[in-house]
Amino acid sequence: MNIAIVGTGYVGLVSGACFSEMGVHVTCVDVDERKIENLKKGIIPIYEPGLEEMVHKNVIAGRLQFTTDLTTCLDDVDVVFSAVGTPPDEDGSADLRYVLEVAKTIGRNITKYVLVVTKSTVPVGTAQKVKATIQEELNIRGVGIEFDVASNPEFLKEGNAIDDFMKPDRVVVGVESNRAQVILEKLYKPYMMNNNRMIFTDIPSAEMIKYAANAMLATRISFMNDMANLCEIVGADINMVRKGIGTDVRIGSKFLFSGCGYGGSCFPKDVKALIKTASMKGYEMLVLKAVESVNETQKTILYDKLWKHFNGDLKGKTITLWGLAFKPETDDIREATSLVLIDLLLKAGCRVKVYDPIAMEECKRKFSDRIIYSVNMYDAALDADALLLVTEWKEFRLPSWAVLNKTMQQTVIIDGRNIYDKKEMVENGFSYYCIG
Ligand code: NAD
Repeated sequence: MNIAIVGTGYVGLVSGACFSEMGVHVTCVDVDERKIENLKKGIIPIYEPGLEEMVHKNVIAGRLQFTTDLTTCLDDVDVVFSAVGTPPDEDGSADLRYVLEVAKTIGRNITKYVLVVTKSTVPVGTAQKVKATIQEELNIRGVGIEFDVASNPEFLKEGNAIDDFMKPDRVVVGVESNRAQVILEKLYKPYMMNNNRMIFTDIPSAEMIKYAANAMLATRISFMNDMANLCEIVGADINMVRKGIGTDVRIGSKFLFSGCGYGGSCFPKDVKALIKTASMKGYEMLVLKAVESVNETQKTILYDKLWKHFNGDLKGKTITLWGLAFKPETDDIREATSLVLIDLLLKAGCRVKVYDPIAMEECKRKFSDRIIYSVNMYDAALDADALLLVTEWKEFRLPSWAVLNKTMQQTVIIDGRNIYDKKEMVENGFSYYCIG
């Protein structure tokens, strides 16, 4: 089968690599010329474990190619996936500009049947807009070419994307024709050999499933953060509470960790977009509004703890951040808690030193020389008055307390991901704060 994937970002490039791994001929398309030039030279634009090797292997095998021009491959493909960005508009709704641009290009150029699948996260009704846009262009051309639209939201997690794509919990596909269903069943069959986990729905339900999944996960995080803050006030321990409730099979133990707030390119924008979709229809998503508000507060909680420790005297203090990415194993800093903290610390007159194993370049583009970029985690902590653990990268899990004790100016550690043991920290001479 020949397919095109438009949008060569976290979702598009991973999907392209994983489809080509199963023998499909994939053309990855992006308007970003530099990205495509680099990909042609073998330079991978994002960090995702296992991706580089998979891309190289399939390029060499001739199954994966890159272009900036979708029209060059439209005559040869059976399916076009759209995996372009859907960033939040000024009012919080999903900006569908790129999705509809792709639809226009398809309508203007197809010469034969094609199945157009939206993989981007888009509000209910978008597939119908895509269909109408393509049809409009065909009408302008005065041609009658058959095509189908489908919705195939993506559930991969950055940092584990290859595994998630190759071994999905489920593949959700919204279709309105048998022809589209048969094509997508065939395309995903290699991933379903042991157990068929394909869920076919109508298109609006598929579009909603993605938002409902992200909104539920964000809700769990904000619920646990709210509980953690209450635990601190009443003298309970959120980690014990987590174990106590996570063993209830109705609740389950995943996604119950409290911390310094969720970020990334999905949860914040998808929660906002869902709230907006509802309000445009005259309905208020009360739970999600609370989820968002708890998260906003939680992103500043490490700063609040720091401020309390120093009685508001932060001017001139050297503060270190371990971790910039919104979560481990990715270079993605979109909506990351680190960004909120750096802004607050700079405003308070602190000297900010940072270290992240992968996301330093992204951060440099944003803050340039307003903060200090360290070569490793100990270099970052040198002379620090306090250390904030923001992203729980593996290398931060077992640091040498002896080194930190010797090299930090003041031994204050604020653990935003609850990865250290309070007793051990106190025994090692640190002032230690965590979440809940
Ligand atoms: P991204 O920003 O990493 O990549 C999007 C790419 O689309 C960019 O490279 C951009 O240049 C390209 N693009 C924009 N307009 C284009 C056009 N007209 N033609 C060709 N290329 C175009 O975004 P992403 O993180 O991969 O997310 C893509 C979509 O998938 C979003 O809707 C997102 O919500 C959803 N999603 C993301 C994840 C994730 O973990 N990142 C997971 C599931 C779903």
